[in-house]
Amino acid sequence: MGKVSVPEIFGSLVFDEEVMHERLPKDVYDSLKEHIENNEPLTFEIAQAVASTMKAWAVEKGATHFTHWFQPMTGITAEKHDSFITPVGDGKIIMDFSGKELVRSEPDASSFPSGGLRATFEARGYTAWDPTSYAFIKDNTLCIPSIFCSYGGEVLDKKTPLLRSLQALNKQALRVLNLIGNPTGATHVGAMVGGEQEYFLIDRELYNAREDLKLTGRTLFGAKPPKGQEMEDHYFGTIKPRVKAFMNDLDLELWKLGIYANTEHNEAAPSQHELAPIFCDANTAVDQNQLTMEIMKTVAIKHNLACLIHEKPFAGVNGSGKHNNWSVCTNTGVNLFDPGKTPAENLQFLLFLAAVIKGTDEYQDLIRLSVASPTNDLRLGGNEAPPAIVSLYLGDELGAVVEAIENDEEFEAAETKIMKSGVKVIPRFDKDTSDRNRTSPFAFTGNKFELRMVGSSASLSNANVVLNTMLAEELSKFADELERADDKELCANKLISDTLKEHGRIIFNGNNYSNEWVEEAKRRGLSNLKTSADALPKYLDEKNVALFTKHKIYTKEELLSRCEIGLENYCNLIHIEALTMIDMVKKSIYPAVCDYMGSIADVINSKKAASSKATSEMETDLLLNLSSNADKLHKALKRLEKTVANAEENEDVKSRSEYYRDIVLSDMADVRRFADELETLTAADFWPFPTYTDLLYSVV
Ligand code: ADP
Ligand code: MG
Repeated sequence: MGKVSVPEIFGSLVFDEEVMHERLPKDVYDSLKEHIENNEPLTFEIAQAVASTMKAWAVEKGATHFTHWFQPMTGITAEKHDSFITPVGDGKIIMDFSGKELVRSEPDASSFPSGGLRATFEARGYTAWDPTSYAFIKDNTLCIPSIFCSYGGEVLDKKTPLLRSLQALNKQALRVLNLIGNPTGATHVGAMVGGEQEYFLIDRELYNAREDLKLTGRTLFGAKPPKGQEMEDHYFGTIKPRVKAFMNDLDLELWKLGIYANTEHNEAAPSQHELAPIFCDANTAVDQNQLTMEIMKTVAIKHNLACLIHEKPFAGVNGSGKHNNWSVCTNTGVNLFDPGKTPAENLQFLLFLAAVIKGTDEYQDLIRLSVASPTNDLRLGGNEAPPAIVSLYLGDELGAVVEAIENDEEFEAAETKIMKSGVKVIPRFDKDTSDRNRTSPFAFTGNKFELRMVGSSASLSNANVVLNTMLAEELSKFADELERADDKELCANKLISDTLKEHGRIIFNGNNYSNEWVEEAKRRGLSNLKTSADALPKYLDEKNVALFTKHKIYTKEELLSRCEIGLENYCNLIHIEALTMIDMVKKSIYPAVCDYMGSIADVINSKKAASSKATSEMETDLLLNLSSNADKLHKALKRLEKTVANAEENEDVKSRSEYYRDIVLSDMADVRRFADELETLTAADFWPFPTYTDLLYSVV
């Protein structure tokens, strides 16, 4: 690769602020900005002008097609490419793109999940341009970030609820700020997100040799390797040259798309790595994370690697997550989760902190639900992953402050200041004192909250929808109280101390991986929704429906549809895994084990034929052991085949999901147990696919 100028390539494929400012007529630019700021629908004239400038820019960059780029509920992004080409007679064409095409498109909606929504309303689905996220060029195609909804406006995607939640948060945060005197002079409040992405890199040829990886993204078989991550030597190890080359290339591609890929390092497990972008507004961050996952996979192919974004590609080895770093900032540049330096800032901070604590306690189930997927179920509670129990980590210093407020005690610290209302507030709080508790599912880390439960393959949208909405709700209740109060400061202080007293149970600074915590959490009455089949139906709990409808995030019907799609997805995914297992056993494991047993039997027979004195103790033991495990595998497989075939007898999706959770998964575990045992008994030359050692130590 030749020398590249990073500032030159950075954002070169993005129709961003700079390009718009430079290329759009001034009145169009001003009017576009104004419409976005005031959250007003764009006029046709603006759309037309933007479309024509966007097209000219894209064509200069080599684009031939355009697409509305949207995030349906399938988990990946969707695109439908149309070319700019418009015939103008005489066999001639022009490159054309209208405002109408920019603003709206009608993809074939029937191929996307709607959870019954479209059937109830209208068969068609529309995508509509989201002008708050920049358009970009990918594979010679102008991609226009869009929302996706039905004709009647029912939401069919992941972006629309996120935008709605940001509006709700803005509204309620401003109410609270204005009631306490709006010290920062904010006129807009938004969520900021930095999404750290974990992934595995393995050799592509080995990947191709595993049907399970190709079809399900994870290994369904694989005996524990002699060396796993016990030595913890990968995290601090040097980055291997092949991985480094991949990372350099990846950075370049991401930079072109204006994604601030920042630090990249090895993670806990062998072959596991992490990419952290620099945080930005939540809507852009969610879009960019979606793009990042896609680019990771394509860059890996160029390097003859496979990038695994699955939450648990290897059983018994650290899984992959996505740390959702979340803060709430004003347009005047103030982070409302920053403890600040002065008492006034502290009051503001403590109010927002109290709102997060209260929201986390009251909507634990929704936070758990926001990260629910069958793939993430394999990770939550596993190695290096937070458990399915939601709790909040505040760190020692802030924890002590909260405890002091809870107990109406003076907070003992050198810099404690007492406000005129007589309520104790925190001293200047140092970012670095919030020690990292890596076991916490939701941790305060200095000036942001880090939700670590999100799965590596998930969109960041769901988690942020829940965080923004629960915060909006708690702030709205605070604002209601503050509106009624004569002395706002006194009221704010009372709100803080009442909240901390009532919701302190959600705070836990200890080891979340321990069994004691599971017991302790139970005593505290915290919810522990172990699987997605348990979590997803919580969408329909009365308090959750009330929350989402109050803030106009989802209607009741939209929640029903989310729940149904989630549960359908849960069943489908496990179904595919079970079928893949069955296929691999029959087509690969049985033949391999038979061949090996045959060769051992041949040895025994030929030894016997050669000499009646020859003993065959080892061969006979091995053969019997193989044979008995093969029989057990056979029995387990027959049972799995039967249970999978019977799954459809559970007509409603909730009971079907419970059937997959309780019966199919457990039958799959049995099949795996015997197959893995056979792997340990079978000679390497006979085993039909790469082992864990091959996969985890393949990239040098
Ligand atoms: P680490 O967790 O490895 O210590 P950092 O704390 O620097 O790293 O940041 C982790 C992620 O959090 C990065 O993506 C970073 O951009 C993001 N981040 C930092 N500050 C904020 C903030 N105020 N709001 C949201 N995300 C943030
Ligand atoms: Mg982190």
